[in-house]
Amino acid sequence: MFVFGTIFIIVLSSPASDSFMVAVKSENIAQPVVIEVLHLGLNLQGWEVAETSHFVIFHNQEKEFVEKVARVAEQTRIVMTRKWFGKDGDAWTPKCELFLHATGKDYTRQTGAPDASSACISIKVDPDSQRVVSRCIDLRCDIPGMVEAILPHETTHIALAGQFGKNQVPRWADEGIAVLSESKEKIDQHRRNLIKLAKERGMFGLKELMEVCDYPETARIPAFYAQSVCLVDFLTKERGPTVFTAFVRDGLREGYDAALRRHYKTDFAGLEKNWQKFLVDENKIDH
Ligand SMILES: [Zn+2]
Repeated sequence: MFVFGTIFIIVLSSPASDSFMVAVKSENIAQPVVIEVLHLGLNLQGWEVAETSHFVIFHNQEKEFVEKVARVAEQTRIVMTRKWFGKDGDAWTPKCELFLHATGKDYTRQTGAPDASSACISIKVDPDSQRVVSRCIDLRCDIPGMVEAILPHETTHIALAGQFGKNQVPRWADEGIAVLSESKEKIDQHRRNLIKLAKERGMFGLKELMEVCDYPETARIPAFYAQSVCLVDFLTKERGPTVFTAFVRDGLREGYDAALRRHYKTDFAGLEKNWQKFLVDENKIDH
């Protein structure tokens, strides 16, 4: 089998895009990250296979494009883990399988996902050991912005899996953190949406948002995303990303009331008050 290796040295202080810019904290600038891409050739299922430290990429794309995907995926993994957990984290074993589907038709045929969706992920956790035993991302190459927005978003979901003990990452925190890995332009779309929804009184109560177990009904999805993104950003700006994830972890274990008191010195009533003030101050909403 023909093997061709490509090595990239990525220094995290020289981020490749806005999404990395926000993620790099001064204490994380230190070590360069080496990203090696091995091209392993065709497998029995007809996929070209490429491999990095934490990803196995299945594709039928140009080598240059695949190497760009590999760089963004590995960078997102390390930057997000350092940002939200203050450490590099364990190596992913098994590695994350990353399928690059050329078209929507290929994607739908092979995943069974609806044509309207742009990506899907699957994560399996062993209930006894609480270890992540399988990680998989399916992406469509025919969607504009796939590498810049969708890939970091989905990779961030994978990086969050298994970081909250026996609990699943709550949806609001999972989606809020994942969107914050995207470009400023994408994040600003949710901010503008939040302003609109706040004026229309279409938002969730914060307790309701945090305690919702799954995605809400379709009509409330825009509010769910806008509010999740802005609330994660708001709390992260208060005390930093690692305090935020500690708050979520404690909130899942002992309830958000106690976790709010411990990490933010407030309760839901206080948080709602600060949140309303934030909406007025930051988004110039008239009440
Ligand atoms: Zn998502």
